[in-house]
Amino acid sequence: MEKIKFLPIIGLEVHIELKTKSKMFCACSADYFGKPPNTLTCPVCLGLPGALPVPNKKAVEQTIILGLALNCKISPLSKFDRKNYFYPDLPKGYQISQYDLPLGVKGELKFKVQSAKCEVRIRRVHLEEDTAKMSHLGNLTLIDFNRSGVPLVEIVTEPDFESSSQVEEFLKYLQRLVRWLGISQADMEKGQMRCEPTVNLEVVKEGRVYYTPLVELKNINSFRFVRKAIDWEIQRQLEEFEKTGRVKEKGNKTTRGWDEKTGTTVLQREKEEASDYRYFPEPDIPPIKITASQISNLKSQICELPQERLARFVREYGISEYNARILTEEKKIADYFEETVREAGRTLEPTAIANIIINKKIDISKVSPVELVKTLIQQRIATKISGSDLEKIVLEVLSQNQKAVEDYKKGKTNALQFLIGQVMAKTKGQANPEELKFKLLKLLK
Ligand SMILES: [Zn+2]
Repeated sequence: MEKIKFLPIIGLEVHIELKTKSKMFCACSADYFGKPPNTLTCPVCLGLPGALPVPNKKAVEQTIILGLALNCKISPLSKFDRKNYFYPDLPKGYQISQYDLPLGVKGELKFKVQSAKCEVRIRRVHLEEDTAKMSHLGNLTLIDFNRSGVPLVEIVTEPDFESSSQVEEFLKYLQRLVRWLGISQADMEKGQMRCEPTVNLEVVKEGRVYYTPLVELKNINSFRFVRKAIDWEIQRQLEEFEKTGRVKEKGNKTTRGWDEKTGTTVLQREKEEASDYRYFPEPDIPPIKITASQISNLKSQICELPQERLARFVREYGISEYNARILTEEKKIADYFEETVREAGRTLEPTAIANIIINKKIDISKVSPVELVKTLIQQRIATKISGSDLEKIVLEVLSQNQKAVEDYKKGKTNALQFLIGQVMAKTKGQANPEELKFKLLKLLK
């Protein structure tokens, strides 16, 4: 029998909570994590009748900034809509979201997966409110409204991913990006970033092309689970196709959840179509007009993005791509590196500085760039005696200080300090302390 050829088709919906002071449509604090349940609420976020929502300007600006960073077109006219559905975590019976006029559309993001270039189109970036949080306690379900109304940005991609590793890299980059922009911590464990991949397969069998039914994987909260859930789902769909030959039907999308205990995806429900939500414009919030000057003003607030900075580090300082990737993991580390390079002037190579920051795991909150440069220069001077020369002196000191050697072997750790001191004295302080300690410990064994 001819072997079936297939290609996974994966799209993503990512929800990220924005780091604003107050919630999306009221003045309640949005900093709800770890707070006593139902203490950060008001008539608006409890959905009481007659309460009027007022949009959070900061959240709108942050969403536009993210849209711009994802190369989206920003809509000059945007609006909020009601997405109607009935669920206990949604007291109003609808969620304020955006339907046909999202803040950002038609973006793209280029990134690399194991040096292979990937390009993903962004369909839309829109703003909505988070729901309340439900927790289950035996037969009881408890609801905490502290999360209700927290600003939530949704990023929807086109189905451009072909593997779980591409999805994982994209999500990691997105997380790095929103942190870099200072608009979210996007901590997946705290639920600040959640993702829902939609997966199906293009299958070629006996020269004909088939598409397997669409499956949406709900609310996955770790990079590892995303990878596992997608990989499992690809296999499941392939087996199902081989067994039943079932193909995608228009408007039919099944929802499955990831079960970590069994390592499988589990059927949850047949998904409603967008029309089932009966979207209509939110009558209490006027449409948002965004002028060209507002957009250019927000654009000017976007600093050099992680990938651009990574490329510049390689180009300008000659450091490896691997190291540049680590240094651009967080903006404050990248800033620290460049400040140290400036501080060092011509006395130290940027490559050496990069190595030190990465390999010695410098605590950048404790050691200032000025201090780091000072220590580095001192260390460079202090490495005049090294290698076999240093080893000779260490052996000499050991044979002359038998008692200290015995003491050390009996467990007196300060004997080691004494021996280091002896070697330092003999080398007139011109040995690298770390190399010296390493050699001493090796020879003491
Ligand atoms: Zn409130």
